[in-house]
Amino acid sequence: MAAHNRRRSPVTLDFQTLLACYALVRVLQAVGLVYVWSIHRRYAPLRELALGSVIVAIGTLSLSSTAEPSLGLLTVVQTMLLGVGALVFNIGIVRLADRPAPWAIGIGWTAACIAAWLYVPLVLDSPIYPVIITTVFFVVCLGYAAIALLRAPDGPLSGTQRIIATLLFVQIAGLIERCVVLVRWGDAAAPMLSSAAQTAFLLATIGSSFLLTLSIAVLANQRLQRALDLAASVDPLTGLMNRRAFTEIVERDWARAVRNNRRLSMLLLDLDHFKSVNDLFGHRAGDAVLRKVADTLAGEVRTGDVLCRFGGEEFIVLMPDTPVGAANAVAERLRLAVATLTEDLAPGMPITISIGVAEKSATESSWEQLVAAADKVLYAAKQAGRNRVVVADDFRKAA
Ligand code: GH3
Ligand code: MG
Ligand code: MG
Repeated sequence: MAAHNRRRSPVTLDFQTLLACYALVRVLQAVGLVYVWSIHRRYAPLRELALGSVIVAIGTLSLSSTAEPSLGLLTVVQTMLLGVGALVFNIGIVRLADRPAPWAIGIGWTAACIAAWLYVPLVLDSPIYPVIITTVFFVVCLGYAAIALLRAPDGPLSGTQRIIATLLFVQIAGLIERCVVLVRWGDAAAPMLSSAAQTAFLLATIGSSFLLTLSIAVLANQRLQRALDLAASVDPLTGLMNRRAFTEIVERDWARAVRNNRRLSMLLLDLDHFKSVNDLFGHRAGDAVLRKVADTLAGEVRTGDVLCRFGGEEFIVLMPDTPVGAANAVAERLRLAVATLTEDLAPGMPITISIGVAEKSATESSWEQLVAAADKVLYAAKQAGRNRVVVADDFRKAA
């Protein structure tokens, strides 16, 4: 984590110059990431990435401007800056991959490496060991972050995640190459004597750091966009799909069912006497009942069916490729599952739902008309005493 090489070669840059180039790249990276963070202040991974890169930039700058390496207080501070900065930065990457931040392991690993780095030169008088420790430290940190990115959930983000992981592997290759060259030459003054190795190291570090900053900004943007999309399509109280998102799906499924002459059924569910829950036990209890019903419905609907909180205490289930008979069976199951619920916040209050079932037919020319058909029989279910399923008459005969 510190400079070891002073000897200058006429054909290649010496280690100090390399370090100055590297420091410049890290400063630019820090500036870039702090700027991105200043735009998305509430996005935690960017805070760590910006903070980590600033700490690393300060450490690298200090290292590159130190005339002679020693084991004095300055070296201790520089080593700690680089170790802690790299830890925070890589944790930011892990969080960007939407995986839990391994703070405990990370702090332990960083502390152990810093301790080893400071202790080893006291007992072993060779500059090779600190370079090996530095390399192992960074390889583990970068490797952990790269693997976290590769194991992050797939989807449209995976391309950017793979790019970042590749760039981290490039940095790892650069570090290993530098370490191997040093160990092979066996002399601290020689790590950069091969101009090919030096060029490769420079390209690997500088090029990948620049692209890394860019890719991190892109990934953060993609993640934030995804979070916004999710927030816009999820009902905050129940966590179910909201009406806006449902409308998009039902329009697509309706068009597909019409085009391919496929069957399509719909359930409209409404909690019975829900106003009384609010009146008797308060709005908070009402909310708790709504959440519980939503969880129950979500646990009971089949894969492929689309459940949505359609309005206040109304839910809707869209069932592609389902005839009304099968829809009726599912509706009965949902009704029974809700009827067995109890809620501590509304003691003694029976929780029941009424359900209207309708299937697409020649009479409806839009999905809204199918909802109207289901609503009509839902009303009939309420009239008939609630806690029951009523199927649209036309279809009951056909089923
Ligand atoms: P019915 O059996 O005829 O459906 O009777 P109901 O009392 O359920 O019907 P009504 O439509 O009169 O009442 C619906 C109630 O749902 C009124 C409204 O305050 C309540 N409600 C709607 N959204 C929410 C919500 O998000 N939280 C809570 N706590 N109550 C809600
Ligand atoms: Mg209602
Ligand atoms: Mg109701």
